[in-house]
Amino acid sequence: MAEYDYDLFVVGAGSGGVRAARVASELGARVGIAEMARMGGTCVNVGCIPKKLFVYGSHFSYDLEDTRGYGWSTQSSFDWATLRANKDREIARLNGIYESLLESAGVELLKGQARLVAPHTVEVDGTLRSAERILIATGGRAIVPDIPGRERALTSDAVFSLEELPERMMVVGAGYIALELGSVLCALGVNVTLVHRGEEILRGFDHDLRCHLHNELEAKGMRILLETRVEELRDTGSGFEARLDNGEVLETDFPIFAIGREPRIEGLGLEDIGVELGRRGGIVVDDDFTSSVPSIHAVGDVTDHVQLTPVALAEGMHFAHHFYGEGGHRVDYTGIPTAVFCQPELATVGLTEAAAWHRCQDVRVYKSVFTPLKLTLSDRQEHSIVKLVVDASNDRVIGCHMAGHGAAEIIQGLAVAMKAGATKAHFDATIGIHPTSAEEFVTLR
Ligand code: FAD
Ligand code: NDP
Repeated sequence: MAEYDYDLFVVGAGSGGVRAARVASELGARVGIAEMARMGGTCVNVGCIPKKLFVYGSHFSYDLEDTRGYGWSTQSSFDWATLRANKDREIARLNGIYESLLESAGVELLKGQARLVAPHTVEVDGTLRSAERILIATGGRAIVPDIPGRERALTSDAVFSLEELPERMMVVGAGYIALELGSVLCALGVNVTLVHRGEEILRGFDHDLRCHLHNELEAKGMRILLETRVEELRDTGSGFEARLDNGEVLETDFPIFAIGREPRIEGLGLEDIGVELGRRGGIVVDDDFTSSVPSIHAVGDVTDHVQLTPVALAEGMHFAHHFYGEGGHRVDYTGIPTAVFCQPELATVGLTEAAAWHRCQDVRVYKSVFTPLKLTLSDRQEHSIVKLVVDASNDRVIGCHMAGHGAAEIIQGLAVAMKAGATKAHFDATIGIHPTSAEEFVTLR
């Protein structure tokens, strides 16, 4: 469309935005993208990647412990500054890769904060650009609690720029981020207290795994307070005091709130041009990611749907193929595998046992709790759990759950089997790889 500066203008160069911009450009569209911070968005800068590097880094504390039983004696010490600096270097490398990927795909990058001024017009730091379509991919941001002292509440972002390891960490919430970052700091010797309003950690996950993980985290030294809320956060000068509703005053150096993330829409001007927003501010879109204003689209966390990088990527991909290619498959939100990289890690795909009983008339459940072979020669007490949920009416495996070493790597493969409609009989007929933890899934009787 010659009357516009671009066919597509993308706001936000994170997972979803970069994928959509690159693919649309490669399909022949004239594409511009605005980014107000570092390239790559949450996943690259303050999410999946630095988090996983910290998970690897901190897990060595357990690995080193395990080596003794195998005859090794090592003098070890840990330097947080080294891990952080190396992580920063790797992230800077990835920022550069994202920028050059856009450049080589022919996407024009505008560095600055974007705002919509009309259905086809964006302003980026004072410059107006027009586009036939505008894609909002601005992601989300951590929610801060509405309590006295909320201005002192830190979020997961603070962990990635932490100068020195604190002595005591309080982490509020018991979802993905609280358990992952709590586990990292716990493994590095920080005294971690997890404060959760609910009756068990990880709401929405399978009950057996929630309980299993709770015990494993406590065995690693994490203090877990359930059915407890923070009522006030005070700065004491030398640290912080959290007043809890159980009467306890918890002293801490590092108060992190990981109580969910909300769509990042502030300053975008969406309401002024009539874009419909959901209850929590997410942009409401149809199956092809079009909002209530036909020229405005949205993908990723800003739609307040599934907040995972591979989902944002799939949405960006579908958007680009739908509008600039030959269609493409709609995003299939069923059977999305997911992992919580706490220690031990948990991964899951499909239905929990409780959800299965709501959906099916009859359900068969198989589970096994075991000590991984690797730990039999070490003094470390850690157990793994695997669980299969089967629809008894047709033998289909409808849920695979695991907590233990390698869970995420194992469940990814099982997610493919489930997509292909695997039955329990298929699992039983599959020869295991011995000796592994994965073979437990094909020997459950
Ligand atoms: P983002 O990647 O957040 O990108 C949005 C971009 O838009 C940002 O770069 C932002 O600066 C930019 N932007 C915002 N407003 C404007 C504006 N007005 N103008 C210009 N630019 C703007 N998911 C997983 O699948 N696996 C994990 O292991 C995992 N770990 C995580 C760990 C943490 C601590 C966090 C916080 C999240 C994690 N996630 C993980 C979730 C994942 O990071 C997000 O789901 C994903 O990044 C969302 O991608 P997105 O494209 O929607 O937005
Ligand atoms: P989650 O939704 O995973 O967990 C939020 C936690 O905070 C829950 O335990 C919830 O309790 C609690 N909570 C919610 N509101 C309040 C409140 N007002 N006061 C006290 N507690 C509260 O969110 P996260 O922030 O951990 O992560 C955000 C999203 O990012 C995740 O949902 C996930 O999609 C993505 N992510 C993915 C990762 C991965 O793939 N490995 C890693 C990190 C993030 P309750 O159960 O009672 O609601």
